[in-house]
Amino acid sequence: PEALVTVQDLKVQIGTDDGVVRAVDGVTFDVPRGRTLCLVGESGSGKSITGRALMNLLPPSGRIAGGRITYSGRSGEAIDIGALDPRGKQIRSLRGKEISLISQEPMAALSPVHTIGQQIVPVVRRHLGLSKREAEARAVEMLGRVGIPRPAERLGNYPFEFSGGMRQRVCIALALSCQPRLLIADEPTTALDVTTQANIIDLLQELQREDGLSILFITHDLGVVAEIADDVAVMYLGKIVERGTVDEIFADPRHPYTQALLKSVPRLGAGRNTRLAAIRGMVPSPFDRPTGCDFHPRCDLAIKGLCESEDPGTTMLGPRRDVRCVLQRNGGAGHA
Ligand code: SF4
Ligand code: MG
Repeated sequence: PEALVTVQDLKVQIGTDDGVVRAVDGVTFDVPRGRTLCLVGESGSGKSITGRALMNLLPPSGRIAGGRITYSGRSGEAIDIGALDPRGKQIRSLRGKEISLISQEPMAALSPVHTIGQQIVPVVRRHLGLSKREAEARAVEMLGRVGIPRPAERLGNYPFEFSGGMRQRVCIALALSCQPRLLIADEPTTALDVTTQANIIDLLQELQREDGLSILFITHDLGVVAEIADDVAVMYLGKIVERGTVDEIFADPRHPYTQALLKSVPRLGAGRNTRLAAIRGMVPSPFDRPTGCDFHPRCDLAIKGLCESEDPGTTMLGPRRDVRCVLQRNGGAGHA
């Protein structure tokens, strides 16, 4: 499949009072056109920072410290996202129009003192070059498509006048109103009840079928992954430890971390809202990274004398299938 965005050995550092954290530590993946890649991991794994790096939208203390993010523009030109000025004109014209973000907390994305119409209409006018009337029509159309009843009447409402689930729909309408080609959805359903969650996932899949949208879906919920992913990348402490298609990851997980995560899911399609299993031990502090394999303090299969001293490196199992574990070095001959 043809990639819309390709990430090569991306490194992101975040400055804190206690020192610099390697929040993203050399990740490689792509998001093909019309497909959904799920970035999976516990909190603190670097998945949100990775998503934000794709828009060159890092916190002020963050910087891209290495690697390359290549976005394929509408006329096929390769855009080096990390090389753009994060406050410059070019990246601002990509954000919202080509690449959109929905986050976990819809209130954070919406202004409480402006109506929904006041928030969607100017964005649509600016990015699509429409008149006010046309932009209003487009906003009403989008609100209707995301399942907001009587959308024309609701343009004049403020965010607090919507329920949590409806607010997240408003955010999706806002994010998709300019027909972006890439949607970065950062735990967009985590705060919602199961039914609303299901509706929103169905909605994203429908929009993907109709518009060929590419989605980077960030989640810690394997039930959601089973529903929405085409491809999966499992993150741990800033690195991708395993990557493959959703079928490969669920049917033949190769990394002990992925295997442990999957133990929480009784069977594929067991339902949404299936949380990750409690894996023994804690995610180590990024200030106190383990030596050798990052996962060795929690790994039931760790090899004494090897895993605590040697970085496993990445083993390619296929063109878009790889794993970071010494047990897989001979293509899985030592299959765990
Ligand atoms: Fe476990 Fe060793 Fe593989 Fe790391 S390299 S996941 S510690 S077996
Ligand atoms: Mg996060």
